[in-house]
Amino acid sequence: MALYSAAAAVLAGLERGEGGLKSLVYNSGFPHVRQLYALVSETLRYASVLEKLLDGAALLQAEKKLAPQLAKVLVYDLLFGQGLKCGGRWKALARRHRARLEAELARMKVRHKVSRNEDLLAPEKAVNTAGEWARAGWAPCAGSSGGLCLTCPAPAASQVPRYVRVNTLKTCVDDVIDFFKRQGYAYLGKAASVEELKTLSGKEFLLDLHLPELLVFPSQTDLHDNLLYTSGHIILQDKASCLPAFLLGAVAGSHVIDACAAPGNKTSHLAAILKNKGQIFAFDVDPKRIATMNTLLTRAGVTGCQLAQQDFLTVDPRDPKYSSVTHILLDPSCSGSGMVTRGPGEEAPLSAERLQALAGFQRRVLNHALRFPALQRLVYSTCSLHQEENEHVVQAVLQEWGSAFRLVTAFPSWPCRGLAAFSGAESCLRASPAETLTHGFFVAVLERCKEGAAAPSSLPAAAKESPQPGEGTEPGATPKKRKKKKQKMKE
Ligand code: SAM
Repeated sequence: MALYSAAAAVLAGLERGEGGLKSLVYNSGFPHVRQLYALVSETLRYASVLEKLLDGAALLQAEKKLAPQLAKVLVYDLLFGQGLKCGGRWKALARRHRARLEAELARMKVRHKVSRNEDLLAPEKAVNTAGEWARAGWAPCAGSSGGLCLTCPAPAASQVPRYVRVNTLKTCVDDVIDFFKRQGYAYLGKAASVEELKTLSGKEFLLDLHLPELLVFPSQTDLHDNLLYTSGHIILQDKASCLPAFLLGAVAGSHVIDACAAPGNKTSHLAAILKNKGQIFAFDVDPKRIATMNTLLTRAGVTGCQLAQQDFLTVDPRDPKYSSVTHILLDPSCSGSGMVTRGPGEEAPLSAERLQALAGFQRRVLNHALRFPALQRLVYSTCSLHQEENEHVVQAVLQEWGSAFRLVTAFPSWPCRGLAAFSGAESCLRASPAETLTHGFFVAVLERCKEGAAAPSSLPAAAKESPQPGEGTEPGATPKKRKKKKQKMKE
């Protein structure tokens, strides 16, 4: 099959919800999978622009036999890609409409007051484009007429299993497995692949392949009334949301900040990793969420956590109280566009202004976190799909800090990486229903470089006064390697 037809077939498969991008590409039979993957991802990235161009140039009306997916691929390559290097008869067809398409593109740029094609990708009214949902693996809504329903990601919720984090402050994995077995569940051992998680049904469960204290049940499993849950022995937490604390690499005795902490699932995970030894400073501005968090932390048996209702941006990094803080978990407010459990119409579409405001806040709060003098390692995470809240935030802040901090490869064996927004973005990780069977999520791990830690010129004066590495860093604050402790399981 030729490249363009293969790409169109993958797009059609995505729209029909036949699988995720990667699996459809690999199963396409097309010999050059990288080339195919790149073309489809780029076409998806430009999906909303392409739809408008097709409409404006009335291409589908003029070419009745041209399928919309193939039209998108051709127009993408003609205007934004390689310029139709291959394509045989399709190339000839697309070229016949070239002048009209180019004129339409020029008009669109004038309307949007931009000069570069890339700038058309900036969000307009609603930023949840078909491409973004499709990339994240959302299936089409039954109610949408063949295309992707942009407001109703609910169907994909059924793809995401029920993840259960064992709260090691109160119990251990073996005991929880035994408990469920006694309740009539069938333990199938440790999963060997993400694919295996999809095969779970009825009362079966597995140990997760990536996270040692995570059990995986079929998505319909409801454990909210289960004694283990009500007593805080297990936490119902999506797998992606378990990554930040796991990847932070703090060990028992560490001083850690959880900057935007409520309702506290990641804080209680941190406390479990620290074995309640050390100090967690947890902040959140929202009093109601703080109240919920208090209840959850108590139920989870968390001690050694100072919880404060405070804007993290007002926390003074130079306060001696925080002089031993070596690790920060930063999971700030975000658009939540990666969450799959919301019902249709629960949220108004995200406006460009709101997205910009969120990204601005995320940049500020990340910058602020990097000002803590003994900080060695920071995890930045969001449950957003938008590059503006993810790769772009990390890129902007790293640029400001010059050589002071670097990205480290988060979970090298994790299959889904950061989008190629800048060189090195693949060090970040992403999660999605299609590729990792989780909610949509983003994680970046930043580490202080040993040398060359100049404060960024664009930061407020106080930031420039932050001690350089070595200065003001207490002896105990040297980087601590994360103990690679894998709990051995009796199967
Ligand atoms: N990490 C939490 C967890 O795992 O349960 C979820 C955090 S939620 C994504 C973001 C939180 O940031 C919200 O609870 C919100 O109230 C809080 N927040 C927003 N702005 C803040 C600020 N300036 N300082 C501290 N917390 C803030």
